[in-house]
Amino acid sequence: MAGMNTTTRILHEGEDRETHFGALNPPIYHASTFTRPTMQAFLEGMAEGSQAYIYSRDSNPTVRALEKKMALLEGAEDAIAAASGMAVITGALLTFLNAGDHVLVVDACYGPTRRFMNMVMARFGVEVTYYHPDLRDLEPLFRPNTRLLYLESPGSHSFHIQDLPALAAQAQRRGILTLADNTWVTPLYQQPHRCGVDIVAHTGTKYINGHADAVVGLLTARRELIQQMRPVFRLMGATLGPAEAYLTLRGLRTLPLRMAQHQAAGLALARWLQAHPKVRRVLHPGLPDFPGHDLARAQMSGWGGLFAFELLPPATPADRHHFLDALQVISMGVSWGGFESLIIPLLARDEATAAQHRRVGLTDDCYRLSAGLEAVEDLIADLEHALDQYSVVSIQ
Ligand SMILES: *Cc1c(COP(=O)(O)O)cnc(C)c1O
Repeated sequence: MAGMNTTTRILHEGEDRETHFGALNPPIYHASTFTRPTMQAFLEGMAEGSQAYIYSRDSNPTVRALEKKMALLEGAEDAIAAASGMAVITGALLTFLNAGDHVLVVDACYGPTRRFMNMVMARFGVEVTYYHPDLRDLEPLFRPNTRLLYLESPGSHSFHIQDLPALAAQAQRRGILTLADNTWVTPLYQQPHRCGVDIVAHTGTKYINGHADAVVGLLTARRELIQQMRPVFRLMGATLGPAEAYLTLRGLRTLPLRMAQHQAAGLALARWLQAHPKVRRVLHPGLPDFPGHDLARAQMSGWGGLFAFELLPPATPADRHHFLDALQVISMGVSWGGFESLIIPLLARDEATAAQHRRVGLTDDCYRLSAGLEAVEDLIADLEHALDQYSVVSIQ
């Protein structure tokens, strides 16, 4: 099926149907342990490099089916599925960073990634430098001990677009590993490996699962890197359960259909908001006047439904509450990428976050919206009604 469309391949590859009595759905293997009939078979199963299933902390057939499909989607040799997006990000960092190493991290990275760098990696003697997401020449920042370049495009909250091929090439010339968080558009619309990135991390919790019912992490790379990471993941114990793997496999089947709708809804809402007199600006890479738009078009083949917008300053701080509390279809909640529309205020709650927001151009009047699968006209009516409850200082 190698030459076929991804939509077809997602449905039919990686499931090893013959070994499951031909079952169309990969069964959920609720088994901690896989037994062996003889001592000889046991020793073979335990041998280094054996593919046998022994214990579900190490590998499980349902989880393996998901890994195979993920490798296929990202165009990678192999994949690791783990208990959450943070598990795959931290597992990769713990595999490759040593005391005395230096890591370059994009300043628009996902918040918990930053906290892990600052709380854990720094404590283990890894030096962390945050670089501005617009930076296209990292040469002045590389040090002799720079081991890894961390990328995320579009960036969290600010949606900055990074020039993935250019940055990956700069790292590659120096033998520096690259790791990209590719959660925003999924491998369907952006494949960082094709841009030269070594390791691609995803939270499957968002669009890949898409139904807001499981927390999942997925990572892809060439075989040699997966072989280095796999033992660390097994020892960390951040294992994905077979039920979550099954839900994610189920979600994957409709990924192309869902992404088409998230993309259309996100753009429709972004355009509608852009024309609203109480909206100062909309941060959506698919809008032609977004600063990274041309770069985004060059390296992505579609848009996600997650974006941010900034309202004009409120007449009183209570107006922020009036706006969010008036929403009836769009719920207030963290995470995104599910069937349901979600919104959060990007209000900085501590000085470090406020400083990072200033660096990437976010204000306390910014909101992040995940366009779900509801009818677009209902989402627009909901926003319109809520914006009516929002008074601004003055409309220029
Ligand atoms: C949610 C998110 C993560 C973390 O994923 P979890 O499954 O919640 O651990 C990582 N990166 C991005 C961009 C995210 O939005």
